[in-house]
Amino acid sequence: MSLIVQKFGGSSVKNIERIKAVAQRVCSAREAGKQVVVVVSAMGDMTDELLEMVYQISPEPTPREIDMLLSTGEQISISLLAVAIQSLGYTAVSLTGWQAGVRTENMHGKAKIKAIDVNRIKRELEKGQIVIVAGFQGINEMGDITTLGRGGSDTSAVALAVALKADSCEIFTDVDGVYTADPRILPVARKMDVISYGEMLELASSGAVVLQPRAVELAAQYRMPIHVRSSFNDNPGTIVKEVSDLEREMYVSGVTHDTNVAKLTVIEVPDKPGIAFTIFDALAKERINVDMIVQSTKAEAVTDLLFTISKDDSRRAVKIIEDLIPQLGAKGLHCDESVAKVSVVGAGMVTHPGVAALMFKALADSGINIQVISTSEIRISCLIDQSQVEKAVEAIHRAFQLELEPGEIPAAIDLL
Ligand code: ASP
Ligand code: MG
Repeated sequence: MSLIVQKFGGSSVKNIERIKAVAQRVCSAREAGKQVVVVVSAMGDMTDELLEMVYQISPEPTPREIDMLLSTGEQISISLLAVAIQSLGYTAVSLTGWQAGVRTENMHGKAKIKAIDVNRIKRELEKGQIVIVAGFQGINEMGDITTLGRGGSDTSAVALAVALKADSCEIFTDVDGVYTADPRILPVARKMDVISYGEMLELASSGAVVLQPRAVELAAQYRMPIHVRSSFNDNPGTIVKEVSDLEREMYVSGVTHDTNVAKLTVIEVPDKPGIAFTIFDALAKERINVDMIVQSTKAEAVTDLLFTISKDDSRRAVKIIEDLIPQLGAKGLHCDESVAKVSVVGAGMVTHPGVAALMFKALADSGINIQVISTSEIRISCLIDQSQVEKAVEAIHRAFQLELEPGEIPAAIDLL
């Protein structure tokens, strides 16, 4: 019997009506003769609402209690979905992360899954149950509940699919798949049928919220294809899988944007060895991911060190660096949250010249100033003013003619 893992995000279970619709879909997979494991997120914006509540009590709640609190969101959805499935005449059992055997490292808030003991799930499946697992949560060595970082249910689903050797892993969301840009701000954006793990990882890390980057990393590592599709219709979505260079039709796959960015500038640090290490080591120890980094060299003995992080981490990062300022001998720290990052991602840019030039031209023609540029082999990102982000996405998408079908799109150099 084939085994399928289906994950439903918060928007897919945001109210009772939606939960009933999800139950229908799950039951039809069961009806088609499959064993089904379902992973769900918390209903709608519940995770944000829970966070809002705790921060009304204290500005610095302990990470253990935040995880304890946030994990309740998923627990509500699993039980409601189980009841919805049972009332359609099928048998279902809901399991929390720890009941499902999800073991994580000790870190709270952004824990990585270390192992999954699938015995309980397998037993339930053998009994003919539809198994519903709370996403986003696990248990650490101390027996405490941990969470996997925002969007972590995607990772729960992929990890379960890998551990159970599932035949497929479907991620249901509120859009039809992975698009060339966010269809909510750019209606002409086109849905892709297929995308490679590498490109999906860059899209997800640069602002496409459709999948958590860690989930893509895991899928790539174990070659587990992911089908990203809508929970509102039966349209085929986007398959994330290994794509050979021969199969690839587009040199640029999409434009992403991220407004959840803070720009930190350490002002006038001495230009000497060990400064960057001290700063980034302190941030790394607190699991704060640093994205773009710029350090200029000036004629003087001091320099500015600028970098970007997620806004979610800015409160903690500012405190860490402010404490280091005397030791660094820097003049001060500036935190700017009015920035955004736009990126162009595409595996074909390795072989197609002119991608960076075309992106910069699109921004220049729209009068948008670039504050910082960073690149990877298959991505170019620009930091801009947040108020210009929609204009930037539109201009870049148009410049690369991404609304056209793959194969019809001229190379970057021809578009310049
Ligand atoms: N409920 C969690 C969040 O909002 C996890 C998830 O939805 O994937 O981030
Ligand atoms: Mg999500």
